Amino acid sequence: MTGPELSRAMPAGRAELSLAVPAGDSEPGGGIEPAAAPVTVRALVARGSGAELRVERVRLPAPGPGEVRVTIRAAGVCHSDLSMVNGTIAARFPLVLGHEATGVIAETGPGSSLAVGTPVVLNWAPACRACWWCRRGEPWLCADTTAPTVPRGETDDGVPLHLTLGLGALAEAVVVPERAVIPVPAGLPPERAALLGCAVLTGVGAVRNTARVAPGESVAVVGLGGVGLAVLTAARRAGATTILAIDVAEAKRELALAAGATDFLLSDDRLSKEVRARTEGRGVDHAFECVGRAATIRAAWRLTRRGGAVIVVGMGAKDDMVSLGALDIFHSARTLRSSVYGSSDPDREVPALAAELSDGVLDLRVLVSGTISLDEAPMAFDRLARGEGARWVVTLS
Ligand SMILES: [Zn+2]
Ligand SMILES: [Zn+2]
Repeated sequence: MTGPELSRAMPAGRAELSLAVPAGDSEPGGGIEPAAAPVTVRALVARGSGAELRVERVRLPAPGPGEVRVTIRAAGVCHSDLSMVNGTIAARFPLVLGHEATGVIAETGPGSSLAVGTPVVLNWAPACRACWWCRRGEPWLCADTTAPTVPRGETDDGVPLHLTLGLGALAEAVVVPERAVIPVPAGLPPERAALLGCAVLTGVGAVRNTARVAPGESVAVVGLGGVGLAVLTAARRAGATTILAIDVAEAKRELALAAGATDFLLSDDRLSKEVRARTEGRGVDHAFECVGRAATIRAAWRLTRRGGAVIVVGMGAKDDMVSLGALDIFHSARTLRSSVYGSSDPDREVPALAAELSDGVLDLRVLVSGTISLDEAPMAFDRLARGEGARWVVTLS
């Protein structure tokens, strides 16, 4: 749909992107090997917090040792991208947005073990496999954390550029360390495969790994964006029998029921009563907070039964303080914990989810509101800010 330069030039799986270096320009010193050149691609760029989003041409470096360039085929617009531009997360600008994507390896740097043409899903939290957390089997807590914005490349007018979560995936291509890509089978629908890298891994992982929802249990999901809908789908597949979907927007009702909810409830002052009426007066076994706000974390807390668990899946602001009574914490015996990237090992679980998607057992169609071009991506941010729809996915090439 977009990126004619990119799609025009993919013979034999190797993209010939328009070169930022004029023809004939050679590396100083005239090495024996021809110097790999940076590439210019179109990308969705925020120039500042609250600034209008624009598709701009940006220069990405050639893949260095252990790096790859990936031609993006589809990239979702996630709430965390919105948080980068609305001030919720402290970001550096100019910033390429996007961190949930699938594509094909177009070029490999020296020493890369991956082959050009390999379909991949991007991983915004690649694990080092050497730190204390990685060695104890908790790679989602890797000490080598990805910063919200990572400096890389430059704008077409020469300003140093930053990439969202080290990826900047709302672009025709990315250049990333090879541990930030996960090979997946060919032939997956790109607009659904892209979601495996954030919303689905996070939502499914929160249910399977963090909460370990068991058959017959009750679940509430607060906030029905892409992640919340993925939690509903996973809760249904885990065998939960009471699955309460909660949002401020009545328009989410149909989406929620299609995703697997047994009931939809509006988030208003009757909410606790409505939830208790559906759980024999107790509250739910697991409440998933998929917004990232103190108010909704408190709401999820109140919906949970004594001894139940509140799982914070949404990423909130550092100055948004949650207040809970000391006696309430003791007496309710609830567990409050977060689910970072679905408490998952993406290198193992993304291929497993890809296989479920390929076999048709993981149905993600309800998560995709529609596919749009890169030029239409700012519209998706506006709709996300208004809480409309599920996931808008940019498709390219
Ligand atoms: Zn995301
Ligand atoms: Zn690590």
